[in-house]
Amino acid sequence: MNILVSACLLGENCKYNGGNNKNDDVLALQKEHRLVPICPECFAALPIPRVPSEIIDGKVFSKDGRDLTEEFKDGASKALYVAEETACQVAILKERSPSCGFGKIYDGTFSGKVVDGNGITAQLLYDNGIKIVGESQISKLGI
Ligand code: SF4
Repeated sequence: MNILVSACLLGENCKYNGGNNKNDDVLALQKEHRLVPICPECFAALPIPRVPSEIIDGKVFSKDGRDLTEEFKDGASKALYVAEETACQVAILKERSPSCGFGKIYDGTFSGKVVDGNGITAQLLYDNGIKIVGESQISKLGI
């Protein structure tokens, strides 16, 4: 099976702070599946490292107050393109991210609090029929 995966979960140093979110349970799926990495914020040509961003009322703002909504939408469109080109019908995405979070995201106050909601890319993938789980929920994929 082809599975779309947040690149930071695979150990790519594409996080806002230049680090990654390497997850061994996700990496182990490589034995039996093709993992297709995406980093929507990289696709949008945002730099590494970069100022962190969060979603407020459906718009994305960096911690220093810039409206990056269009950049995040651009990255989401490119992630969807990759998903379609590689026929991925499922995705494992980094939890709570303003791009990749699904179900819960940071609340826009940069305080670590979470609220119900989806990241910009997760929402677009979901709207296009892709099944999404976070990295702590991969057992729900049933694979
Ligand atoms: Fe990871 Fe997604 Fe953030 Fe890229 S945009 S660093 S893949 S959570």
